[in-house]
Amino acid sequence: MDPQSSTSAARQGQAIPVTVIPGDGVGPEIVRSAMRIIEAAGVPIAWEEAEAGAEIFRRGDSSGVPQATRDSIERTRVVLKGPLETPVGFGEKSANVTLRKLFETYANVRPARELPGVPTRYSGEGVDMIIVRENIEDLYAGIEHMQTPDVGQGLKIITRKGSEKIIRYAFELARREGRSKVTCATKANIMKLTEGLFKRVFEEMAPEYPEIQAEHLIIDNVAHQMAKNPTQFDIIVTTNLNGDIISDLASGLVGGLGFASSGNYGDGIAIFEAVHGSAPKYAGKDVINPTALILSSVMMLRHLGQVEAAAAIEDAVLCTLEEGRAVTQDLARQTGGDVEHAASTTGFTDQVIANLGRHPTSVPVRVHASDLDLAPRPGWSYGPERYTAMKRDLVGVDVMIETDLPVDELGDDLGRLAGDALQLVMVESRGTKVYPSIGLATDHVRWYRGRFVAREGRTVSEGDLVGLLGRIAARHRWTEVLRLQSFDGEPAYTKAQGE
Ligand code: NAP
Repeated sequence: MDPQSSTSAARQGQAIPVTVIPGDGVGPEIVRSAMRIIEAAGVPIAWEEAEAGAEIFRRGDSSGVPQATRDSIERTRVVLKGPLETPVGFGEKSANVTLRKLFETYANVRPARELPGVPTRYSGEGVDMIIVRENIEDLYAGIEHMQTPDVGQGLKIITRKGSEKIIRYAFELARREGRSKVTCATKANIMKLTEGLFKRVFEEMAPEYPEIQAEHLIIDNVAHQMAKNPTQFDIIVTTNLNGDIISDLASGLVGGLGFASSGNYGDGIAIFEAVHGSAPKYAGKDVINPTALILSSVMMLRHLGQVEAAAAIEDAVLCTLEEGRAVTQDLARQTGGDVEHAASTTGFTDQVIANLGRHPTSVPVRVHASDLDLAPRPGWSYGPERYTAMKRDLVGVDVMIETDLPVDELGDDLGRLAGDALQLVMVESRGTKVYPSIGLATDHVRWYRGRFVAREGRTVSEGDLVGLLGRIAARHRWTEVLRLQSFDGEPAYTKAQGE
């Protein structure tokens, strides 16, 4: 298998193999539209049609992505895909998330640029930003447990490697596209060890790109600033959940879901799709706006090195929107236009094809580079070497406990169970210390965390932890144990509120 088959075919001028997944609902209509336009632009693509989504779930494959589709993607390494429905009630995972995870497409890239003929509150200001969202980690790792029948817990996973990859991607994208600023958006003020790690990696990497202005803003302020003054942003790099929310916000600034394109990039692999879903109520009616998927296919062509064809198609779309002769229903509704005589999906596509070779007059031309060479290079450190020398010490343990006991009784009992090496320093409820009491009126929820640390002058052994857990288990229902460690003498855990 040639891991770069699509990109190497593109380089050698052969037909480029691309996996195309028509998808569910309106998917086949918008995918057909993009394929027709690419063909009209003269790009030789060898489409490999593959299935995923609702029909696959119905056939009993709970991943929604059959092996034949996985094999095709392994071969081509480039996918153009329609939206995939996640049926409710079959117990499945989202086929979209499965695809992203299977092929480790860690960078979700969503441009949001003012479009001619698409009026918004910000028209005329020139909004032109790209949201670069980490696509694998964070709460989307999907590691969730019910700790008790009435307490759910989800683990937020942020790794240095994952952060380095996406932040590197954002800076390289800025450099390649001639962008001047990268804003890192996190909640590092609250989540110091997860969002904080992402921010620290950003600050470490920024000096490698001295020509690019690097700034950090708290994510809630980013949302506020995007609504107030969106043109201050150029590229925003952020963690998965933050990115999910602000990339939709960014789409809203420039006309909404009918226009929002995206690419999911991994190392030597990429999946291009519209941001919107399968819009089932419009399926088969030839009325949906195909712009989002057409612009996603423009991103795909750039990825394949087809920079001229990409520019020609993008220009043709911008011309079509600018001249306003073929206006789809959604836009007609938005602008108070003639919805009854709005352009069909096919009619809009025909007009884009007719406009190939023309250039828009009301928007500045943005020159894009091909993104063929964004694979990791020597010197880009994704390796764990720097941590192997770190000194690690076991300094205590947190034990989660479900109980109906009054908190003082629980705290007194845990204190007695602590043993010779460990001492109980606090009990907390949902992150706030409740024992010894600090006089706050916390609403207790029958689920507590007891924190045990080494007694003065003592070291903690594995045996101390096992012994403690045995004593606690004999008297209480424990649900989870978390080791307290220090790395090079620095505590590798946070304190509770009030600790
Ligand atoms: P949706 O399919 O995005 O549609 C919601 C609404 O957005 C539509 O009813 C329509 O609004 C508008 N819209 C969406 N695409 C449009 C377009 N191309 N042109 C014009 N308007 C458009 O969201 P949903 O109804 O929540 O989700 C339906 C299914 O899609 C679900 O099964 C969901 O899981 C799946 N989904 C898949 C993906 C993906 O594959 N990446 C993404 C999101 C959702 P009006 O009703 O106002 O006309």
